[in-house]
Amino acid sequence: MVTSPFFRIQQVADGVFAALAKPGTGAGANAGIVDLGRSALVVDAMFTPAAGAALRDAAERLTGGAVRWLVLTGADHDHVLGAQAFTRATVIATPRTAGNVLRRAPRFLRAARRDGARWLEELGAAAHAQPDPGERRAREAMRQDLLALLGSRNLRPVWPSLTFGSHLTIYGRSRHAEILSFGGVHGEGDAVLFLPQERVLFCGDIVPVGRHPAVGAGDPDAWARVASRIADLPADVVVGGHGPVGAREDLLLAERYYWELPDWARGTPVPEPFASWDAQRSLLENLRYAQGVGER
Ligand SMILES: [Zn+2]
Repeated sequence: MVTSPFFRIQQVADGVFAALAKPGTGAGANAGIVDLGRSALVVDAMFTPAAGAALRDAAERLTGGAVRWLVLTGADHDHVLGAQAFTRATVIATPRTAGNVLRRAPRFLRAARRDGARWLEELGAAAHAQPDPGERRAREAMRQDLLALLGSRNLRPVWPSLTFGSHLTIYGRSRHAEILSFGGVHGEGDAVLFLPQERVLFCGDIVPVGRHPAVGAGDPDAWARVASRIADLPADVVVGGHGPVGAREDLLLAERYYWELPDWARGTPVPEPFASWDAQRSLLENLRYAQGVGER
């Protein structure tokens, strides 16, 4: 049994584990661990080097092998900055994600050193001002995550070492993993990792599980295309970047979400279950983004 202050390990198939981030610890986002047979593959690196190191150790204990591959599903800092703990792994991303990590991570770390104390104050004030308890807890967790990052020593950005276009297969002794990219929805070069034998999908922030995604790229045609390609994958277990482990239904809900978002942006009321999902602030941002794209 592997335990960690940063995440909770949930086995989702033979040799496959979800590391579910504990809010406010610096973990920031969920990750995945795949036993390839005498070596391990990890999906996403969490937010702080300490959380990344705990994830690497957990992967090595669970699989009995070194982490050979680290796959980044996107360029968001909460999925990426822990990568500096994976010194011996090949870091895989789409070219877009790699470019964004190279550009944004050093900039973010410089800004955090300069303005981190002010960000903490602002997040604290924003949490305090939130009437909704769930939103307040989310802000407070963000503040704690940032505090953990700012307390890290020797923070340095890590860069992807291998990029792929739309499809890359990693073969191990025990199983193989398909890394796929269908285009941008959340970021500009989102990737997912699919295990066809185990029917498990690690999807970063493209597929929301019980909470609004942050739609930050692409347009309605791209969203619909990406969402239906992902829903076509025969996955029974879905591990997103945040929240609990999901199932096939979450892929179908994600597909509906991206199809219907342009209608909601034009005034159609947001139906259930989406209307009561967590991260309402992301919904407002998505509606604004979709309106902006619609006007172009
Ligand atoms: Zn995320």
